[in-house]
Amino acid sequence: AKRQRDGEPKRFCAVLEQKLEEDITLERELRLAIDSGALSLHLQPQVGAQHEVIGAEALVRWHHPQKGMISPGRFIPIAEHTGLILPLGAWVLKEGCRLLGEWQHDTRLRDLKLSLNVSVRQFQQPDFVEQVTTTLRATGAPPERLTLELTESLLMSDPEGTIDKMQRLRQLGIRFALDDFGTGYSSLAYLKSLPLDTLKIDIAFVKDLTLDMQATPIAATIIALAESLGLDVIAEGVETADQSTVLARLGCHVYQGYFFSKPAPAAEFARLNSDSSPT
Ligand code: C2E
Ligand code: CA
Ligand code: CA
Ligand code: CA
Repeated sequence: AKRQRDGEPKRFCAVLEQKLEEDITLERELRLAIDSGALSLHLQPQVGAQHEVIGAEALVRWHHPQKGMISPGRFIPIAEHTGLILPLGAWVLKEGCRLLGEWQHDTRLRDLKLSLNVSVRQFQQPDFVEQVTTTLRATGAPPERLTLELTESLLMSDPEGTIDKMQRLRQLGIRFALDDFGTGYSSLAYLKSLPLDTLKIDIAFVKDLTLDMQATPIAATIIALAESLGLDVIAEGVETADQSTVLARLGCHVYQGYFFSKPAPAAEFARLNSDSSPT
């Protein structure tokens, strides 16, 4: 009773209520956006030791007619909550594979890899493997160029089903990266049993890296772990030359981050990297 008399909890409730209302509006609008061409993929380059582009991660963008660009950090959680992640994820898969298929006609784009983010619910659909197979076939995308980024939460919720599905997709030639590595709770023993190709070091562990090597323990541990498991490692959120230098010293040779490039519209990425573009 006392709590209701205070101003604070009430204001807190009002804020929650407003947030809930916004969420409901966004859900309705997102439902329409998925089918109406309001989504697009931006691509962020992944670069190798000589800072050459070796591929890209696709990041979904929503162009809202009134609210402008809405960030996936805002709408992906709503999509996951409401099930809209299924049609959204299917759209991302189609669009990503369409791009990969298109790239096959360009000698400089043809060898690039493309990474797509896959949500837990999307991956857990019983027909996910069929969806991927059908989409690859329809778009002419080479499966060896496609990487699916999964998160640790997926691996925790249904280990056996996950491993089985990963193995079936792997037989097609698809690769897997574990996203945001270090932020979840997967056990090391379990990690070893997964058919993974790459660990992505979360931005949180890259942020603190400085040349004096004082702040490196977590990044260093993840890189050593990847090496001992025979996995590749990508550092995300690289924003400075110093960070990439330290990562290279620690043995990480693939990077992604604003220091190299921000995510850009797919057409721009293709133009910058195609065989008709000046070098
Ligand atoms: P993520 O998969 O961890 O993607 C990396 C995020 O870090 C992206 O944010 C990217 O723009 C941002 N980033 C890249 N380099 C830097 C940097 O140097 N500094 C900083 N501060 N940030 C950097 P974005 O595009 O806002 O995406 C946020 C999250 O939304 C993604 O995190 C991913 O979890 C989710 N997401 C994005 N696209 C998709 C999608 O197509 N499907 C699904 N299921 N989730 C997606
Ligand atoms: Ca990702
Ligand atoms: Ca990530
Ligand atoms: Ca993240």
